[in-house]
Formats: sequence, structure tokens, C-alpha cells
Amino acid sequence: MLKKIEGFILTETPNGENSKILNILTNEHGLIGAIAKGVKSSKNPLRSKASKYTYGIFYLDYYDNKLSKLEDIDVINSFKEIKKDIIKISYLAYICDLTYQVVKENYQNSIYENFINAILKIEAGLNPMVLTNILEIKYLDYLGVRLNLESCVYCGSKKNIVTIDPDAGGFICQECYHNEPIINTKIINLLRKYYLVKISSITKLNINESSIFLINRFLNQYYERFTGLYLQSKKFLNTLVNQ
Ligand SMILES: [Zn+2]
Repeated sequence: MLKKIEGFILTETPNGENSKILNILTNEHGLIGAIAKGVKSSKNPLRSKASKYTYGIFYLDYYDNKLSKLEDIDVINSFKEIKKDIIKISYLAYICDLTYQVVKENYQNSIYENFINAILKIEAGLNPMVLTNILEIKYLDYLGVRLNLESCVYCGSKKNIVTIDPDAGGFICQECYHNEPIINTKIINLLRKYYLVKISSITKLNINESSIFLINRFLNQYYERFTGLYLQSKKFLNTLVNQ
């Protein structure tokens, strides 16, 4: 059945001499595997479009339980700004890897919406570290390791919270506090905002540099401790942004 579906190519793998298998994240059907026949040959009109990071309308000969077949693509956005900048490309590579891991675990439509909007905001010039961190904190829900922003992780108390600790997995109250690093209320409130914000509605970000880095460091630690994901693209990104 021929279907027209909005989506984004998350991964591509070579298939035979001239073809590719694409993993397309779509807004209606989650992740779709599609074979793109002959697209590596120099005369193929889909040669440049049928590649990783293409966001568009996909025309597929669609099958539910086996590989679909790519027929055509109308590109929606080619992310020209991101592709000019090695740091932004590295964020995009990491976001795609991470999203692929998340949708393999558990697909929900909100993942697609958050993912596409985060990349569109980076393309529009908003801070890629902040957008990536917003996605990371939202993705924790789908990875089954949601950050507890409600109560002390040890005793459940909602009162006298003194800090939030990535290794403990959330808030620590005065009673349970030993000598964990103090993360101030401003950062805690920002983490909550990151978690709750609707990405498509963000028009500007007024967050100071040191808070941005603190939150990034917090989420790096949390991801290492709780998600079991070790992505090469994340390591590379960290070497670039000096974490
Ligand atoms: Zn406690």
C-alpha cells in the first residue's frame, strides 16, 4: 500500500552495492524500516535525499511487519544552519543516536514531536546544549528512569529539600543529607522547567552560561548512572564542548 508519511531518517546502513536500509522515525507509525533501492548510484534522483538526517514527507510502499520500500521524498527542512557547524552537527548526531535508543525501548507519539521540535529550534539558532538537555530530561520517562522532582529519594519527604543528586537519582532532604554537592534551588527549578516546557513553544532562552553547564553536567551524570546507554556520539560531543 502506498503511504505518505512525515518522518526523519535516523539511521542508514548500506545494502548491497547501490541500496540502503533506512530507519525512519515517523509521526504516525513510530520507527519504520525501509529499503531505498539503487539510491547510491550517481544517477538516482534520491541519492542525496535518501540519507541520514533527512526530514521530509516519505512516499513508501508500506508493509506492517517487514521492510517498506522507499518510493520518493519531499524534503521539509534540510537543516542548512546545523550542517554548517561542527558542534551543532555533533549535537544532531547525538540526539539522533539517543532518540533511536529511546524509540527502540518504547515508542510514543510525543517522542517524535519532542525530537523534531528540538532539532528545528537548534536549526533556528537556539542553544543546542539546552535543547539537548530538555530532550534528555523528557526522554528519561520513556527510558523508565524518570527523574524524581517531587520528594526526597531516601525518605519521600517533600519538605526541607537541600539538594538534588544525580547519583542518588533525585532530591535529598535535610534529614537524609550527608555530604552530597549542593545544587541550588535555581537549578532545581530550571530542571523542572526543562522537564515541563513544550518545545514547540520556546522562542528564546534566557539562561545564564553557568546554569546551562551545571544542568548539562547533572544530566550527563544521571544518564551515566541510570540509563545504561553509552553512545559514541555523546563521548565525542563531550570532548567538543569540554565537559
Ligand atoms: Zn529524606
